[in-house]
Amino acid sequence: MHNFFRKNGGNIAVAGLLSIVLIICTLDFVDRLTDSMNNPPKTASITSGANQNVSAYKPDFPILSDKAIITISFDDNGGTVYTEAFPRMEKLGLKGTNYVITNNIGGKGLLTKDELQEMYDEGWSISNHTLRHINLVSDKGITDGRVVSAVKDARNRLIAYGWTNGAGEFCAPFDTIDEHILFLIDPYITSSTSSQKGLNDFPLDLTHISRQGAGENPPEVVISWIDEAIKNKQYMHLYFHQIGPQGGLYYPPEKFQKIIDYIAAKERDGSLKVKTMHELSHGL
Ligand SMILES: [Zn+2]
Repeated sequence: MHNFFRKNGGNIAVAGLLSIVLIICTLDFVDRLTDSMNNPPKTASITSGANQNVSAYKPDFPILSDKAIITISFDDNGGTVYTEAFPRMEKLGLKGTNYVITNNIGGKGLLTKDELQEMYDEGWSISNHTLRHINLVSDKGITDGRVVSAVKDARNRLIAYGWTNGAGEFCAPFDTIDEHILFLIDPYITSSTSSQKGLNDFPLDLTHISRQGAGENPPEVVISWIDEAIKNKQYMHLYFHQIGPQGGLYYPPEKFQKIIDYIAAKERDGSLKVKTMHELSHGL
């Protein structure tokens, strides 16, 4: 009898202890559940959706290279980027970056959504040149709020179209930008080309990238810049607007061909690497 009671008394004590442990665990679980409902995770997906308010990707490593890197970009959605530049560059295996004014997609003489999609599918970056190409520094009636929406809304449009690779890469219209604007738009951009001209040293300062416009310079001059970037192992951002014989913002096709032939040959012999802005800022 003595043993019987002692045995069952022990079981009752163990059962009681288990109940207490179970209650504590349950309370702890409810507590953690309540906590997670009140404080949802702060990370959010930036891969889809039309209304993205989350921060743009920022690399947590320095952008370095042991050889020159070149980006070939085009401003303002000119239709000749698709008809002239794209096929010529495709033949050489070169990918470019389009800085598009998102409100002008599909406009007269401008790149259509389908054309941009085709270029995106081939690995081009489709990037941010604001919603309406306003001067962020001196546009009439410009406010901090308008600056932010010009950049944020354009980025959201690119993401809504599915062009996530490049949506965070920014280029200010008229090459006008300052530190205050960079501060305002920082949550929505990964990189920014500035009004600065010239070549860039590694490690790159992604939000202060200098760039060189082909403008009306002959190919020999542009090629001399490329040679300098190779010699000094620098980053060169070369930009055009349109490709065509008209002059002005149109760079002559045969001269454009000379430049990209030279770039492709230098990439083949290992002197440089051609990267889109997305590839550049993601260390790809
Ligand atoms: Zn522009």
